Amino acid sequence: MAEKSFKYVIVGGGVAAGYAAREFVKLGLQPGELAIISKEGVAPYERPALSKAYLFPESPARLPGFHVCVGSGGERLLLEWYEEKGIELILTTEIVKADLAAKTLTTASGELFNYQILIIATGSTVIRLSDFGVQGADAKNIFYLREIDDADKLIEVIKEKKNGKAVIVGGGYIGLELGAALRINNLDVTMVYPEPWCMPRLFTSGIASFYEGYYANKGIKIIKGTVAVGFNSDSTGAVKEVELKDGRVLDADIVVVGVGGRPLTTLFKGQVEEEKGGIKTDAFFKTSVPDVYAVGDVATFPLKLYNELRRVEHVDHARKSAEQAVKAIKAHEEGNAIDEYDYLPYFYSRSFDLSWQFYGDNVGDTVLFGDNNPESPKPKFGTYWIKDGKVIGAFLEGGAPEENKAIAKVARVQPSVENLDHLANEGLSFASKI
Ligand code: FAD
Repeated sequence: MAEKSFKYVIVGGGVAAGYAAREFVKLGLQPGELAIISKEGVAPYERPALSKAYLFPESPARLPGFHVCVGSGGERLLLEWYEEKGIELILTTEIVKADLAAKTLTTASGELFNYQILIIATGSTVIRLSDFGVQGADAKNIFYLREIDDADKLIEVIKEKKNGKAVIVGGGYIGLELGAALRINNLDVTMVYPEPWCMPRLFTSGIASFYEGYYANKGIKIIKGTVAVGFNSDSTGAVKEVELKDGRVLDADIVVVGVGGRPLTTLFKGQVEEEKGGIKTDAFFKTSVPDVYAVGDVATFPLKLYNELRRVEHVDHARKSAEQAVKAIKAHEEGNAIDEYDYLPYFYSRSFDLSWQFYGDNVGDTVLFGDNNPESPKPKFGTYWIKDGKVIGAFLEGGAPEENKAIAKVARVQPSVENLDHLANEGLSFASKI
């Protein structure tokens, strides 16, 4: 069996892997020290593009345009960059076994890798309706979106089913972004989700009513309070109908399912401590196993600001956790110490002409401000979350860069607030003063 040894191995070649590679180079990396092993066939890229500009009918984003680290305004790392730096980028290669005690990884084709230090960056996988035994859920033209191959298959069928009908199952990030993308591609779109409003884990009803109204104005039909319980196919095995729990049946040429993700930790089960569904780490992304780090979607880490352990499935954290882990590895080698990870949660999304950002925590009372009328020519509104008399979270739709910076600062500084009515009247100017 072929065997290779590296000082550092990153398993997974997504966002976190790419940012980790850049950080290694920044801090000093010798040729041949680092290998990145990835199931995907392309160098690390900014995954959020897949549900946005990648699906545009005109001038879509394509690789190599959105390789990391362009999403945060950094250098674009092409294949040549990895070569030049002596980083072994091993693509289209799945690790099927990890032995953390022996410090080895085995690929699907039986190749063995030894490492001194391992960074786990396997990200998440989608939850499939077939996992719950939904009847007919493995029909053709039912799509999930996680990797670039998924997006390419979807694009092919979008072209094939011109002016056809699309049903989106799920009202979270993926549902909302894909609903918009398919509508822009001129499909007749219906969204279905069980909750009373979209993005219920983050949005208040006031925030959601804006997006639902805006989507309805774009011609998207929204069916709430029910779920897909079955799919019927035609004689070729392609989906043609979606059966809903409330008895309705929807025609469908394309179905996109976005019902959540699951961190890819299976390889390491029983070998490393887990917490809240992820691999437990400290503030330097060190796991319970010596010389093993976990970053990005798979890590459950101490969120210092709220003094609790959390797992965060967002790109900003994937980038920053990767950088923190590499800094910690290098500092340890040099006998230095670095500061603990002190993350301010940051989420964003874009669809149609809309763009929102959220910083902080979304618990406590809420105050809505601004113009959230979906018919407005230039809607701009936000929400503050207030807990124990302090503003701890802030959301803004349509903000300019300096306004987004202002709400980020509010979430970090957590200013006291006495009167919620005043806060509602002050709106964005409250944040701009902090
Ligand atoms: P990933 O980027 O998922 O990378 C994991 C990599 O590991 C993949 O390449 C995978 O193939 C590989 N891998 C897994 N298992 C193995 C194995 N056994 N062997 C080899 N390789 C393996 N976040 C936001 O904040 N804003 C957004 O707008 C946004 N949009 C998104 C849109 C889409 C379509 C998706 C899927 C996610 C989006 N996210 C967004 C979430 C964000 O992309 C993730 O949080 C981020 O990519 C996590 O980075 P990661 O490196 O941990 O995992």
